[in-house]
Amino acid sequence: MKEHDLVVIGGGPGGYVAAIRAAQLGLNVACIEKESALGGTCLRVGCIPSKAMLESSELFQMAKNHLAEHGVSINADSVKLDLPAMLKRKDGIVSQLTKGIDGLFRKNKITRYLGHGKIVAPGKVLVEGAQPEEIVCKNIVIATGSKSAPLKGVEVDNERIGTSTEALAFPEVPGTMVVIGAGVIGLELGCVWSRLGAKVIVLEYLDRILPGMDSEIATEAQKIFTKQGIEFRLGMKVTGAKVSGKKCVVTCEGAEPITADRVLLAVGRIPNTENLNLDGVHVAYDNRGRIQVDQHFQTTIPGIYAIGDVIGGAMLAHKAEEEGMAVAEGIVWGHCHVNYDAIPAIVYTHPEIASVGKTEDQLKEAGVPYKKGSFPYMANGRAKAIAANEGRAKVLAHAETDRVLGVHIIGAHAGDLIAEAALAIEFGASSEDIARTSHAHPTLAEIVKEAALAVDGRAIHF
Ligand code: NAD
Repeated sequence: MKEHDLVVIGGGPGGYVAAIRAAQLGLNVACIEKESALGGTCLRVGCIPSKAMLESSELFQMAKNHLAEHGVSINADSVKLDLPAMLKRKDGIVSQLTKGIDGLFRKNKITRYLGHGKIVAPGKVLVEGAQPEEIVCKNIVIATGSKSAPLKGVEVDNERIGTSTEALAFPEVPGTMVVIGAGVIGLELGCVWSRLGAKVIVLEYLDRILPGMDSEIATEAQKIFTKQGIEFRLGMKVTGAKVSGKKCVVTCEGAEPITADRVLLAVGRIPNTENLNLDGVHVAYDNRGRIQVDQHFQTTIPGIYAIGDVIGGAMLAHKAEEEGMAVAEGIVWGHCHVNYDAIPAIVYTHPEIASVGKTEDQLKEAGVPYKKGSFPYMANGRAKAIAANEGRAKVLAHAETDRVLGVHIIGAHAGDLIAEAALAIEFGASSEDIARTSHAHPTLAEIVKEAALAVDGRAIHF
């Protein structure tokens, strides 16, 4: 029987990072993954392929509509979409990166098992696959991620009516695409196909898009995406979706049915816990399937840990990575920590939307006194030079201590700019600290500095 110090179930960003960190700390580590490619949803059918498609579709859109503004003249009618080439590029990137994880496993001497990991008992895991085998270990980390949440009445056929996985590989540009859910997945993939020529209709149950994000920024985002051609129908309760011939029909409460070529269901994700034998080994989870853990990520059973999308909190690859490192350190050192206040969230649309810390809505609700500084992209020289006039950065700081509580940015490269804000929150910085830090000119980073200056009413360029 094979023996390891640690067995990680799941080879996504949470699991593979936990495995590498534990190996760095000297443990004999194994990782069980049922897919032949490592990297999980993020690398195979999530973050990475969607970013490849977002980049390619943006370039297509740029060539078709915006190059002339830069004095680069091409015949817009001659700009043609080669969708198979675009999809092939995306698949190539995924393949390179997933193979990269194989390399990291070899480098760190991590044993990889191909199959479904099932916990037989604390310290014992069965690998169900072509050749089932039992592994003995001191500790187990569950990092099995999440899957797309179903919606009553929506009949997913994984072709015309599908999830993000299908929407990353439509074989042709749909004439009309209905997106159910104005969350991160719906907006990112809605943007991709809208840029490539689809008429995109987003149906959202709430009266706003991007729930959880700062509402002022979300309202601005909705205006920008509407201008780009995406149609939003808010306050829509979707009651069903069915394939009918080569079309799909989506029904909503109190509204006419909508006929579309493709439907993307993106109403959230749920933890992947089936066939892990959680009940058999008495690992507790809540009514939404989220495994209960303590501050060391240990479940209700000693020696069994869980991280990432299968536990509570934001379903983000980098949050899972932080937890992956922390769980390994906790197992070896006996202590570990993740600062959830400093985990950024990014929507990779154009413009990007990024946020870290508390939203204005949360501060108001909690009755925290705060000051706010805002600075628009259009007043920044570099933004003008790269034709990125839309958006702004907003810094929220405590009214008495000036400590940075939240930063929210909508605009070009917001996802990169937010790193500075996450660092500021991690270091307990004040808005004055950001304001007094030299930011190179001309850069978009100056927008964050100016927003910090604006907290004290002293932005220079606006
Ligand atoms: P989400 O929770 O971001 O958004 C789901 C949306 O669907 C919400 O706006 C919700 O109100 C709406 N909704 C729910 N029921 C509905 C109904 N019956 N009719 C219409 N609308 C309905 O979920 P998602 O976009 O599916 O993403 C899933 C997870 O994946 C999220 O946790 C997200 O953070 C993560 N993710 C992150 C990124 C990123 O970081 N860039 C990218 C993709 C996914």
